[in-house]
Amino acid sequence: MSASPAAIPIGRVSAAAYTIPTDAPESDGTLEWSSTTIVVVHASAAGRVGVGYSYTHAAAAHLIIDTLAPLVTGRDALDIESAYVVMMQHVRNIGRQGLAATAISAVDAALWDLKARLLDVSLVALVGAARDAIPVYGSGGFTSYTEPQLVDQLGGWVASGIHAVKMKIGRDAAADRARVHLARTTIGDAQLFVDANGAYDRTLALAQADAFAHDAVVWFEEPVSSDDLDGLRLIRDRAPAGMDIAAGEYGFEPQYFQRMLDAGAVDVLQADATRCGGPTGFLRAAAICDAAGLPLSSHTAPSLHAHLCCAASCARHLEYFHDHIRIERQLFDGVLEPVGGALRPDRSRPGLGIEFKQRDAERYAA
Ligand SMILES: [Mg+2]
Repeated sequence: MSASPAAIPIGRVSAAAYTIPTDAPESDGTLEWSSTTIVVVHASAAGRVGVGYSYTHAAAAHLIIDTLAPLVTGRDALDIESAYVVMMQHVRNIGRQGLAATAISAVDAALWDLKARLLDVSLVALVGAARDAIPVYGSGGFTSYTEPQLVDQLGGWVASGIHAVKMKIGRDAAADRARVHLARTTIGDAQLFVDANGAYDRTLALAQADAFAHDAVVWFEEPVSSDDLDGLRLIRDRAPAGMDIAAGEYGFEPQYFQRMLDAGAVDVLQADATRCGGPTGFLRAAAICDAAGLPLSSHTAPSLHAHLCCAASCARHLEYFHDHIRIERQLFDGVLEPVGGALRPDRSRPGLGIEFKQRDAERYAA
């Protein structure tokens, strides 16, 4: 592809991985972890530097340095779509989904941030805003938490003005019901979401849905495996009125989201720009939701999704995830804080509005 006469060639593209310990042991219905790795990408052009990131394995940084950076360097920084397409094509034989998609996502985010900085506009203004702010829901409530930890976290979010919270379930069906009831008594009239991370089978998921309805649970995420589209559809059809079935966080490409919607599997689609191809891929997911007439909710990575959810008219809310709130505050300046339960991108700052704190990050270098 030939560059336009006013092309601004992309210069250096770098990547590095940082592993940050959690503040307590964490688990959900199907996974336990004690640290989180973030891969941070910087891309430069005409004296500006864009930053992007993905929560993934450190190997993604190697993939970026060895394989993706040479593809992107020298391209016009204004033509992000061409970089996205060539990256997606190039990883065909190593597997486009998974690790490669997270690497592409981080580069794509850096390119969007770079373009916005070159034009001296915020990312939400570059894409085009649909709204000024996006409601968030507090997300944590790990199955590893004690009851006091659960109460402190969920209650703290509601006390700060956040109107919805999500907790993990899926380790012990009876304990799940008791903890959901405890959460309900803690948060008053706030909305309560649960996420089983695919831990239940169909029969148990249906029984739990009926039980959770007594505590006014309005969101049941991955009641069964996201790979069981027929199962999700079954739960969706039989779930109590007013309880949304949600999934989509493992979508690495637009076709995944299309299949999920074609199966009638969800009431709300989730997408994660750090996995599904950066802002470019996230906006494709939003277009698929628009076509289907379904709402979209972003998965984790709040600093990235605040802008994208304000640009996507189908976005309902943003996941304000405990681990990533901590990490983004530690590693970036300019991180947004919820006001009145919503994140409002600062349009006076170019791009994502965040600056990487290299010196603070060094001790976490992976
Ligand atoms: Mg989830």
